[in-house]
Amino acid sequence: MTAALPVTETIAALPLPAVAIDGSERIIAINDAAQALLGPFAVGRHFITVLRQPSVVEAVELCLSGKASAAAQFLTRENGQDATYEVAVRRIATAEVALLTFQDVTHVAAAGQMRRDFVANVSHELRTPLTALMGFIETLRGPARDDAAARERFLGIMTHEAERMNRLVGDLLSLSRVEAQERVRPTDKVDLKAVLTSTLRNLNPLAVETDVTLRPQIPDDPVTVPGDADQLQQVLTNLIENAIKYGGEGKTVHITLATADRIDALRAPGCRISVRDEGPGIDAQHLPRLTERFYRADSHRSRALGGTGLGLAIVKHILNRHRGRLKVQSELGKGAEFIVLLPLE
Ligand code: ADP
Repeated sequence: MTAALPVTETIAALPLPAVAIDGSERIIAINDAAQALLGPFAVGRHFITVLRQPSVVEAVELCLSGKASAAAQFLTRENGQDATYEVAVRRIATAEVALLTFQDVTHVAAAGQMRRDFVANVSHELRTPLTALMGFIETLRGPARDDAAARERFLGIMTHEAERMNRLVGDLLSLSRVEAQERVRPTDKVDLKAVLTSTLRNLNPLAVETDVTLRPQIPDDPVTVPGDADQLQQVLTNLIENAIKYGGEGKTVHITLATADRIDALRAPGCRISVRDEGPGIDAQHLPRLTERFYRADSHRSRALGGTGLGLAIVKHILNRHRGRLKVQSELGKGAEFIVLLPLE
């Protein structure tokens, strides 16, 4: 016959934080992992003095009064961050003991929150132009029905709003495509000089329109990196387009491509592409968050210029796929410099 399991040793042997509570509602065993989570409490204390959260208390009481199992969430803070634990409570009927184990589900909870935030952001971004479109359709059907001049003007605004929605959907699709491929390393050899030259050619009309001078500095020797040419073109387009848009009329955008035998941030030989403008710059507090989806340093200006708030998020994901890095240097009033670092091999 097997001897009865010793409670203290059994609890100690569990890999998860675990606590056993007996019929008198006192803690009879607690392992090291649970002490790290709940604090160094002595065995023998009433469990409510240790586990104060109502949903946990309720789950324990249910099991002590006969229910086979119950579940609860335990919320706490670890290293200054919110943490969420799923608590499973099981009744050990023969001993009249409730056994609690804690599982860290912080990452699952954070992913769920991110998804909800993202859906809320997308809905909000789409709703604004959609509301404008619906308002103008209403006006064109009613009060402005026979007013040819108003019709022209409203159709112009409607086109503008529809284009904004189109850009947003386009950027969302790019982002999801880029994310889907993020773990697949690009294998093509890409001539960065050709990519940069073609990007500058495509953006020239925008530069002319906004009276911005593009000043490239490109080396004579070829610069070849393993990469996806379309995606690298998108990186350069997003950065140079931002520099033109935010840099401002009459200013210059400096674009430099160079290689180095060693780039410290990559711990490898690499190339460095810098896009520097002479615009209003970005306050230091915004720099760490610029590549988050829909994060805007200057929301009003971004919207006025037709921005989606997704350009730098797309840049970040493409560079991750290429094992590259993005650095941003800026000071208010002194322009901004976006630096792309890409490994040569
Ligand atoms: P957007 O579509 O709003 O331009 P991005 O993801 O491309 O979105 O950029 C995020 C934010 O970073 C912008 O809203 C803007 O506030 C800021 N930003 C980006 N580039 C520059 C720049 N060259 N100068 C100043 N601010 C910039």
